[in-house]
Amino acid sequence: MKNVFLNYPDPSNVYSKMWKGVWKILAPSKIKIFMWRALHDALPTRAAIAHRLNHEDSCCKSCREKDESTLHMAALCPKEQEVWFISKLSLRLTYFNATSFRERWLLVWDLLKRETNSRNFISLALFTLWRIWKKRNDLIFNDISWTSEEVANKAEKDH
Ligand SMILES: [Zn+2]
Repeated sequence: MKNVFLNYPDPSNVYSKMWKGVWKILAPSKIKIFMWRALHDALPTRAAIAHRLNHEDSCCKSCREKDESTLHMAALCPKEQEVWFISKLSLRLTYFNATSFRERWLLVWDLLKRETNSRNFISLALFTLWRIWKKRNDLIFNDISWTSEEVANKAEKDH
């Protein structure tokens, strides 16, 4: 029975390969730490804070439709899907089906690493996610709204 599983990639091995790839990207440590926290569901999203403080205000401030979990913030929010699509990555995140951010990111990473200039694409994906997070914090804490174009352009300039 054990041999059956030998034909499938070990998920922890896939994860560690991906993480080594992310670590090699030229990006500030704060972005890599942010990514690590996102992958371990350790970001202070509105859903995480609401759960910790036992209150109900966990709604996403961008779409005002769903709870702001890491998966929602990074991939499911229609506002952020727009950013991913108009960026140079042209990602249609609606094509991917995943139940956690880590699962979703592994699918995206698998797609990006097939590109000729994969390191450049993975770098842009990291900076895009970082900019999405900064944009959301700006909306929550400073009441500043960024358009999807501004977020995508800022990530492109930064990376
Ligand atoms: Zn949303």
